[in-house]
Amino acid sequence: MIDLISDTVTKPSKDMLEAMMNAEVGDDVFVEDPTANRLENKIAAMFGMEAGLFCPSGTMTNQVAIKTHTQPLDEIICDKQCHIYNHETGGWAFHSGVSIRLTEGERGKMTVPQIEELILPDRDWLPNSRLVAIENTVNKGGGSVYTIEEMKAISDFCRSKNLIIHLDGARIFNALTALNKKPADLKGMFDSISICISKGLGAPVGSVLICSKAFIKKARKIRKVMGGGMRQSGFLAAACIYALDNNIERLRDDHTRAKQLGETLKTLSWVKKVLPVETNIVVFEVESSAKFAEEILKHNIRVHTFSPTLVRMVTHLDISDEMIDEVIEVLKKF
Ligand SMILES: *Cc1c(COP(=O)(O)O)cnc(C)c1O
Repeated sequence: MIDLISDTVTKPSKDMLEAMMNAEVGDDVFVEDPTANRLENKIAAMFGMEAGLFCPSGTMTNQVAIKTHTQPLDEIICDKQCHIYNHETGGWAFHSGVSIRLTEGERGKMTVPQIEELILPDRDWLPNSRLVAIENTVNKGGGSVYTIEEMKAISDFCRSKNLIIHLDGARIFNALTALNKKPADLKGMFDSISICISKGLGAPVGSVLICSKAFIKKARKIRKVMGGGMRQSGFLAAACIYALDNNIERLRDDHTRAKQLGETLKTLSWVKKVLPVETNIVVFEVESSAKFAEEILKHNIRVHTFSPTLVRMVTHLDISDEMIDEVIEVLKKF
């Protein structure tokens, strides 16, 4: 099977499993798991932040951030395409009792004027504009990337308006790879960042929320009440540390392979549109995505249907050049 459904389908390599087996562990609810502590400190230091919180999923890191930053009657501002709005089961309302207001950015990317338009005045009958959350890369935007300058402009604007700013950086390493930038280039821009290690980096489980020391105490408590206090989580953290040490550089290969798929799709008459391929995600339009997915599955290739007409293919750690060649062969015969 050539599985292009998501970059979450990767299985731990032998070396990663060995790192997990050899992890030194303790009880993380007592903050006594040395490997979980090491992961949290390592990733926080990379981005120039003070503290980290290891969670089982990126949904949890985003939701812990929203709950920590807001109170009921607050409102968060995000884009219509974002994961927080679409794919976290309405958690902003469920956990935090806040409302949400949406920009309609180009391929999911918000701009300062779009955000400015949604900030509400202080009135009894309006919620309090509190938090802006941006996503980089934007999954539904086809892996679109905010540049450092775009992020900085939004950050400066939010600070000038006293708005908290959160980055859903599930695939931030893909964005940084595409931009040729380092995590430290984001230093000071965000109040919190959520990072998935179980996406393109290949860990089986795990996301980290990085933030300030002041924020972490409350965030730990909220993780606990959500049921995310893990015990010997060092076994999982070891996989994440292995992923950070070994699997960032190679994201470049995923991007090259995704671009090859995108270039091929552009030449095919039955493909109506291909979104620009900036990272490891390829989104394109066909007559019927369900029919396409069914047909290509007969060739042992699995893709994701994003909408009745949109298909997504994602390259990752377990996809090789040979597999891409095979997919291209199959596509050309359709
Ligand atoms: C995958 C993803 C998340 C978190 O997803 P989980 O499956 O809960 O780990 C958050 N934001 C974005 C943009 C994502 O792609």
